[in-house]
Amino acid sequence: MPRKMLQFTHLPQRQPDKRGAAERRGDFGEISKAFTESSAGEQSSRCEQCGIPFCSIHCPLGNNIPDWLMLVAAGRMEEAYAVSSATNTFPEICGRICPQDRLCEGSCVLEQSRHGNVTIGAVEKHITETAFAEGWVRPALPAIERGDSIGIVGGGPAGLAAAEALRRKGHGVTVYDRHDRMGGLLIYGIPGFKLEKSVVERRIRLLAESGVRFVTGTAIGRDVPFDELRARHDAVLIATGVYKAKPLGIPGDDLPHVHAALDYLIAQNRRDLGDSVPLLDARGKDVVVIGGGDTAMDCVRTAIRQGAKSVKCLYRRDRANMPGSKREVSHAEEEGVEFVWMATPESITTEGVRANRMHLGMPDASGRQSPVVIEGSAFTLPAGMVIAALGFDPEEMAIPGLALSAWGTIETDDGLMTSLDGVFAAGDIKRGASLVVWAIKDGRDAAESIHRYVSAKTAQAAE
Ligand SMILES: Cc1cc2nc3c(=O)[nH]c(=O)nc-3n(C[C@H](O)[C@H](O)[C@H](O)COP(=O)(O)OP(=O)(O)OC[C@H]3O[C@@H](n4cnc5c(N)ncnc54)[C@H](O)[C@@H]3O)c2cc1C
Ligand code: SF4
Repeated sequence: MPRKMLQFTHLPQRQPDKRGAAERRGDFGEISKAFTESSAGEQSSRCEQCGIPFCSIHCPLGNNIPDWLMLVAAGRMEEAYAVSSATNTFPEICGRICPQDRLCEGSCVLEQSRHGNVTIGAVEKHITETAFAEGWVRPALPAIERGDSIGIVGGGPAGLAAAEALRRKGHGVTVYDRHDRMGGLLIYGIPGFKLEKSVVERRIRLLAESGVRFVTGTAIGRDVPFDELRARHDAVLIATGVYKAKPLGIPGDDLPHVHAALDYLIAQNRRDLGDSVPLLDARGKDVVVIGGGDTAMDCVRTAIRQGAKSVKCLYRRDRANMPGSKREVSHAEEEGVEFVWMATPESITTEGVRANRMHLGMPDASGRQSPVVIEGSAFTLPAGMVIAALGFDPEEMAIPGLALSAWGTIETDDGLMTSLDGVFAAGDIKRGASLVVWAIKDGRDAAESIHRYVSAKTAQAAE
């Protein structure tokens, strides 16, 4: 049913319903239900169709949001999908896991004028799920085969977005990953309650159908030397992510009940995928997760679902200053997680985590107030399991001639080419731990540059 736009004055914002906290604590399924066609249309019709769309400006992909909202409101779903998929390789994934409150929805003019933002992420997911159901999402089959070969190291969102774009243009593409599955953190990091595994696997199948070649269980630099990889391909993209966990660096951090966040999450994700691997199991334990980012939120919510006796999240700043998505904090609280704000760990024993209270002191160079320990405020949280979730740095890379930043990320020019001719970099390994949507943006941009580079090389060879 076609609808008029600008309906925000009388239609209140409604996100899709969530499953109740009691129900979702019992499984790893996604917590948000889907929009119906009519609720997606209604919510889309709230859009103000701004002349300067701040939502698009603050979407890393520059998605044409007002246009696809207008098309959904008009019931023109196939066109909405065409517009949405023109700028985003995996819109149904971003619709689910982008921190929209910090990106598109946080910049919506309706949010700024206190009417409540348009539910952009949920509509984006609805458009692509409708497209899958209707058979509009098809493999990117190229019109011509160029007969060249691009090697991509890393099958996370950056590598896969580049693979799709390059294949669409007719390049031969091989993606290598050291894991036994493609998907990177989409498959082994982010839990199913945010992004069900079948959603990622569906995309990987489509890429395989388009002719992308996947080589799993192969670590470049260990199983295949980097020079050999360069010799195999006309261009190489490094999209290896960042995996070196930041250490706690306190007494007791090597005790057997202290685990790295990713080890914990990977074991649970493998179980969800049907692998018979041992779990790092929180059942019946008091769990303390140290950290305040997305990874910490995923760990606390995983522990709840595993049946922990209690789950606490220890973070050294306050709620307003935490890096994780506010929406995820509310989900965690609804599910029974207790947040211990303004507290930092001092040591870990077999009994628990000894911590100190903090206050926010003078702003540092970035303008953020630095947390300072309150003397004499020490307390102990009982813990049978401690999970360290302080974030990630790049692993050491020993590739001769590859320029790195002071933080160990790969330096590139504006076209994402590294200091090595024909070697490009994208995603977290280029920008540091970031977001899926930025990895997709980088992957698409790198594909464009690689296409230009390889085409010029082919033209030169033909002269
Ligand atoms: C627990 C967790 C939760 C997150 N939640 C969110 C979220 O909700 N929303 C969001 O937007 N972002 C989230 N992020 C961040 C997001 O997942 C990353 O920014 C994104 O996945 C980066 O994509 P990438 O392709 O650069 O790297 P990755 O996804 O890390 O993929 C890199 C791939 O390279 C492979 N690899 C590494 N080295 C080699 C090698 N030598 N040879 C072969 N293969 C190699 C790895 O196995 C991996 O598959 C989360 C991150 C974590 C850790
Ligand atoms: S990709 Fe992310 S930031 Fe962009 S419109 Fe979709 S949900 Fe918003």
